Amino acid sequence: MVAINTGFGKELKKYGAFDFNTCYNCGNCTAVCSLSTEEDSFPREMLRFSVLGLEDDIKSSLKPWLCYYCGECSTHCPQEANPGELMMSLRRWLTSEYDWTKLSGLLYKSLSLTIIAFIISAIGVIIFSVSKNFNLETIMHSGHNFEMIAIAAVFGIILFPNIIRMWWFIIFKPNIRVPVSKYFSGLWELLLQMFTQKRALDCDENRFRWFEHFILVIGYLGLLFTTVFLDWFSSKNLSIIVLGYVMSIAIFIVTIDFVSSRIKKMKEVSKYSQPSDWMFVIWLLLIGLTAFAVRLFIDTGLLERNIWLYIVHLIVLVQWALIIVPFGKWPHFLYRSFAMYFAKIKR
Ligand code: SF4
Ligand code: SF4
Repeated sequence: MVAINTGFGKELKKYGAFDFNTCYNCGNCTAVCSLSTEEDSFPREMLRFSVLGLEDDIKSSLKPWLCYYCGECSTHCPQEANPGELMMSLRRWLTSEYDWTKLSGLLYKSLSLTIIAFIISAIGVIIFSVSKNFNLETIMHSGHNFEMIAIAAVFGIILFPNIIRMWWFIIFKPNIRVPVSKYFSGLWELLLQMFTQKRALDCDENRFRWFEHFILVIGYLGLLFTTVFLDWFSSKNLSIIVLGYVMSIAIFIVTIDFVSSRIKKMKEVSKYSQPSDWMFVIWLLLIGLTAFAVRLFIDTGLLERNIWLYIVHLIVLVQWALIIVPFGKWPHFLYRSFAMYFAKIKR
């Protein structure tokens, strides 16, 4: 006997869903979705599961991650049930279900808590800078160490266990038997989706957005590699310096476009923005902008007299690494890639 949870709709609305109860099950949304297939049919089914509050069925489903939010289904819904935004809300909800710390859910649902977390991390960086007497060299050295430790800690302590939980809900709990060899042979799919998100190309509406996302992923990973592993801010190697500039400019240009389309709300995909959506694009933009400015100030000999600029960059970085990457929208990128991987090995 399936337990129906009518309170689930209320909970989902805290993650951004609209009045999806107006859905009368016509199936238009599934018919127009270019990513929906016979084996993996959505979003109508997810609407039904959400209306009935079938939490376990949603948790064991990969479908919310198979949607790339082109917005076609919402445009064609006669009931304005906004299935595209419902799929987005399900991804937010699933992110908080996978998260063993439960902090994701708290931050998704409470803007005040998120702001408090941002303020605490900013104060932490300022207190640290004061304790080091605003010594630029020491603070920059600590900033670089922080990047390396944060990457290892966030992945090892939070994101990796969350991926194991995702696997638990999707493969283990429903008792799906997958030969070990499939886990290895499917790894290519994981890497391919992670770096290219190529499935989004199957969505006609998404081609330019796919290109922007691709540049963003390359720019972000490139800047991470340049600053963390090639120590961009201390490097005297011209190729590394130029590479860092190119990567930070790429991030800046793409995120400016993302922010402006969210402000203009012209496309279905950017009509509805939750605080987590805003934070994701704005903090990426700030990372690109402040990293570029710090390196420019180093090259022009201005940073010594303007240490505040590096402190601002460090604050942005700490907030990004400790809040947005483990608990915000960033893990969507990871879970979506793993969803494609799990879909492949399940088949
Ligand atoms: S969400 Fe809209 S288009 Fe989809 S089944 Fe419901 S009413 Fe029809
Ligand atoms: S937003 Fe696009 S990809 Fe997602 S379910 Fe709707 S039509 Fe399909």
